[in-house]
Amino acid sequence: MHMADHPSLAWGLIGASDIAETRMIPALRREGHRILRVASRSADHAREFSVRNEIPPTESDFSLETLLEDPAVDAVYISSTNEQHLAHAAAAAAAGKHVLCEKPVSTDLDSAQKIVAACADHGVVLAVNHHLPAAGTHRAIRKLVHDGAIGRVLSVNVRHTSLLPERLRGWRLSAAPGAGVVMDLTGHDASVVNPLLGTRALEATAITVRQGRWESAADDAAASVLLYEDDVLVRFHDAFTTPYTPSYLEVHGELGSIHAPEVMTPEPIGSVFLRDSGGEREIDVPDRRHPYDITLDHFTRAVHGDGRPVVDGRDAVNALRVCLAILESAETGRRVSLNQEPNPRAITSR
Ligand code: NDP
Repeated sequence: MHMADHPSLAWGLIGASDIAETRMIPALRREGHRILRVASRSADHAREFSVRNEIPPTESDFSLETLLEDPAVDAVYISSTNEQHLAHAAAAAAAGKHVLCEKPVSTDLDSAQKIVAACADHGVVLAVNHHLPAAGTHRAIRKLVHDGAIGRVLSVNVRHTSLLPERLRGWRLSAAPGAGVVMDLTGHDASVVNPLLGTRALEATAITVRQGRWESAADDAAASVLLYEDDVLVRFHDAFTTPYTPSYLEVHGELGSIHAPEVMTPEPIGSVFLRDSGGEREIDVPDRRHPYDITLDHFTRAVHGDGRPVVDGRDAVNALRVCLAILESAETGRRVSLNQEPNPRAITSR
């Protein structure tokens, strides 16, 4: 359901990807948007993709140039592989198209900042689809923490593990710069914890390994510890290798603890429990829309000048900084300092 006072958008898809097909196209349609075009390097693949997803045929022209020259396209959804995000986002911004880019925003800080700068220079909205912070569960958790329900926060634990589906065992397990579990899953954890704490990550230390019974050039499991401001300890366990492990987020404070099973998932599921001197109780999660729908709702409003995306360029760069520090620590065996920009504090409404 899109907001009546914010007209829906006409979209071009850059990247005929799995995530576009399985998650974003259904969300765009649930939100009442129109999908006009797909750009792809492979016309055959794009043609099949368009037919399968009932996107109007655009003859045989699936080029990026044609998509960006189409004045009817308001916004692009970039779900190409990570190392192409910069070229695609910069071209879209230069063409005056608003940009919803898949995470990680890019594979290194320099190119990520170029994406942010290109969108700012051309006056287009940039959002990055770290969809978890949009979820009703995560907004309820942020509200509890920001309202002081658990007092001073001392630690956060996240488990974000599953078995990587066979169809996704391509570039994620390759030697490409955007491959591996840290770029794929840990960035989501950081996108959740940064606004939850509203403070900066200062240091990272991590160990990454290859556990899967598959050929992989990239590490597929990671255990990371971060120090945030005010001596807050944060622990992440991310893996492509555990088939039966439910995800969770825990936040522990001086006055109480939050335990949230199954919230590190794109489905609108999971629960939030608060335990304090009054015992344990489940916290109501009023908004059970799909996180993608909420992300699109905020993006659409931002395009119409009303508010800002749930995860903007700065938020995405801060999440990327966490990933890069973790990767550097895993490679060098050392603690690595971060140089994050301040994270905005009160964003329970986003
Ligand atoms: P895919 O591997 O499905 O697609 C990436 C690119 O590979 C496509 O754009 C396409 O290139 C090419 N491709 C895929 N299938 C074929 C095929 N059969 N024939 C020819 N080319 C093909 O990637 P994902 O959907 O897994 O990931 C895309 C992006 O989305 C990444 O940035 C990833 O990190 C992100 N992502 C985000 C998630 C989230 O939780 N927010 C979850 C999953 C992914 P072309 O366009 O040139 O045809």
